[in-house]
Amino acid sequence: MIVILFGPPGAGKGTQGELLAQATGLRKLSTGDLLREAVRDGTPLGQQARRFMDAGELVPDPVMVGLVKESVLGDRAARGFILDGFPRTRTQAQALDSMLTEIGKPIDNVLVLDVLDDSIVQRLSGRRSCPQCGAVYNEYFDPPAVPGTCDRCGHALVQRPDDEAATVKRRLDVYRQQTEPVLGYYREGKTPVHAIAGDRPIEAVQDSLRKALGL
Ligand code: AMP
Repeated sequence: MIVILFGPPGAGKGTQGELLAQATGLRKLSTGDLLREAVRDGTPLGQQARRFMDAGELVPDPVMVGLVKESVLGDRAARGFILDGFPRTRTQAQALDSMLTEIGKPIDNVLVLDVLDDSIVQRLSGRRSCPQCGAVYNEYFDPPAVPGTCDRCGHALVQRPDDEAATVKRRLDVYRQQTEPVLGYYREGKTPVHAIAGDRPIEAVQDSLRKALGL
């Protein structure tokens, strides 16, 4: 099964994708996570991607397509994937179609998490994560017991550079201008697209996502 988790930055794609992966046994493929790992490791990809990410811009299509191709074609035995953060442009969507034709797997569903711009800004500007264990908190909705410290492992929490206010605004604009139109591409091609209200508790959103997949 191939599922695309779609939606603006901060809509909850990472959190929901993780839960869905646990429930289905599908692999979650997050391009944002892959890029952050490359930046952390200082690889040539990371060095190339960093300035785009820090500015809230998209990393160029050829780089992204190459990155995803490795994972999709390199793991043909996988039961399927949950894609989080890819595709973000029409060119990426077309490239994904070619890869999936090659491995003989159609896209089962595009699940769109709808969240209002105001809540996105609050979600992203309040987001803090633990660089040690990966736990994610929000200063407003889900704060750690001791401010700035991870409940799970005690490490100091950090803010993603692209979650700072000015960059959040740019990421939202980029989403509306370059990424949202990709939904039109899927609708034209008759791929099932389901919109899910993302401004609800995590469990309620997860429940709707599973129902949309017939689980
Ligand atoms: P995310 O964690 O999905 O919000 O991604 C963080 C940043 O990584 C984005 O703001 C982009 O700069 C970059 N990025 C992630 N996925 C893509 C993609 N499919 N195309 C272009 N840039 C991407």
